[in-house]
Amino acid sequence: MTLKFDLQPSPAPRGDAEREAILADPGFGQVFTDHMAVATWTAADGWGDSAVVPYGPFALDPASAVLHYAQEIFEGMKAYRRADGSIWLFRPEKNAERFAVSAHRLALPELPVEAFLESIEALVEADEAWVPSGGETSLYLRPFMFANEVFLGVRSSRRVQYCVIASPAGSYFSGGVAPVSIWISRDYTRAAPGGTGAAKCGGNYAASLLAQAEAAEQGCSQVLFTDAIERKWIDELGGMNVYLVTSNGELVTPELGTILEGVTRDAILQLCPELGLTPVERRVSLQEVLNGLKTGAITEIFACGTAAVITPIGELKDVDGQYRVGSGEAGEVTLGLRQALLDIQYGRREDTHGWTRRI
Ligand code: PMP
Repeated sequence: MTLKFDLQPSPAPRGDAEREAILADPGFGQVFTDHMAVATWTAADGWGDSAVVPYGPFALDPASAVLHYAQEIFEGMKAYRRADGSIWLFRPEKNAERFAVSAHRLALPELPVEAFLESIEALVEADEAWVPSGGETSLYLRPFMFANEVFLGVRSSRRVQYCVIASPAGSYFSGGVAPVSIWISRDYTRAAPGGTGAAKCGGNYAASLLAQAEAAEQGCSQVLFTDAIERKWIDELGGMNVYLVTSNGELVTPELGTILEGVTRDAILQLCPELGLTPVERRVSLQEVLNGLKTGAITEIFACGTAAVITPIGELKDVDGQYRVGSGEAGEVTLGLRQALLDIQYGRREDTHGWTRRI
């Protein structure tokens, strides 16, 4: 099934000068484009009311289910403008599939992959002028879905709102590609077996914010969470997956289960062989990481995700101390992978995997 997202143009889009001023220094997630894609679902009638409409607030009844029980999911992806002016998406069907997985886990209706892709393309087409050019800029796309039945009973909502908003983006970390410090949380976990760790739901992020605040107090930009049972195995960061580079040419990342299956994580697994690296998905203990940093068995660590691309980690910190990663500078493997990935996304390297899709 697909849905049509016809454009109802904004009567008051921002002018060229205002938009260009914003695009010159977009920051991250602060300014939104002139339109949004919407659709609604009801248990009685299924999906409908799909369109691209002027960007604006929703009217929410105070008893809307999402405000009480957090039945909500979202996605994060980007549209990239290439040097020739064309605009491309990167593996959008992976986001569509993950959105459906998240919907299933949160007992929300699944939006068909085709309809998801249609909504993304229709919005980017409508707000094409908002896709910045140059450097590592992009148009960040945020599809989301929430329960808005007016009912306080605890069960899955019979009325759901789907929406996609878009925001021009510069670099995610203010320091650009400079290595970041990461706080290892001993007190808090983000996902338990059987829980929602593998879904992209707002509740996971709400649960991570206290640990994130603790990290910020320690001068760290993200949290590394361990598993919820033994507090022994590394999982992922609050909003990124994590990779270790070993001295014998392996690229090791925690196996799937309670973590989010990152689109970037998966792309790196597939890129490894062409860069002469061996990808490994397995459980990794925190002890192995700290020992490996001491002995030199682990030479680099990096975080990866749509927003952060690939970001070198220069240092881990916890209540017991600080652990420098390699020289503390961005490593060669990390930077090589980062470049390869960006080059595919911006069309400077041949896309042998069929990952990119032109708008
Ligand atoms: N883990 C978490 C918890 C995230 O929020 C994200 C960002 N979506 C990622 C990993 C990376 O996923 P992706 O590469 O698809 O952006």
